[in-house]
Amino acid sequence: MSPSGTGAVDGGDGARHRVVAATGNPGKLAELQTILSDHLDVEVVAMTELGIESPPEDGDTFEANALLKARACAAATGLPALADDSGLEVDALGGAPGVRSARYAGEPADDAANNAKLVAALADVPPEERTARFVCAAAIALPDGREHVLRGTMDGRIVDDARGTHGFGYDPHFVSDRVGDGRTNAELTPDEKHAISHRGAAVRALAPVVRELLAG
Ligand code: IMP
Repeated sequence: MSPSGTGAVDGGDGARHRVVAATGNPGKLAELQTILSDHLDVEVVAMTELGIESPPEDGDTFEANALLKARACAAATGLPALADDSGLEVDALGGAPGVRSARYAGEPADDAANNAKLVAALADVPPEERTARFVCAAAIALPDGREHVLRGTMDGRIVDDARGTHGFGYDPHFVSDRVGDGRTNAELTPDEKHAISHRGAAVRALAPVVRELLAG
């Protein structure tokens, strides 16, 4: 039995796990809930529902940021906590915007301004050198100090012309290597994107680890 009213671990007594996600984003919450539910009986609660605020993301890596969010959330709630941190790495820009992806063009975060800055920065870079990847670090932290973090990636390239209306962030300018017909991420359906996305890959890889940690 886990402490702090987290509900019993699903070790044969049939009870649900309750974990908190360090996000207020409904899309991320739904994706976490769906993917984890394939592996264990779990209820994912948003930290915003519990009145918790996210700490500043001042780490130098996606992993550091995911862990600091998960640790803060676990400490504030006494519940196992999940967090992710993601962004875009462009090879011709030395890995920028990287951990600064959300605020690449400055505060406040603005997708249109970020995309305009990205396209301008690549103006002199030929198509074959516009390789890039989305990265997502997904972390779990338990109130007892146990934790784990891992990453998922989606390789592709940056295109000048924005196409598509789905997704968010840099999606209209990103074509995944796994999409054969050249559609941008923003032209994929949400299900098509989740199946190949960095976030989907990271959360799917973390799910069995979450199961192990909650059982032990
Ligand atoms: P965060 O992990 O939610 O803080 O995301 C950081 C930033 O990375 C976002 O604001 C986007 O600019 C970018 N980003 C992360 N994942 C994606 C994605 O799947 N599509 C497009 N942009 C993304």
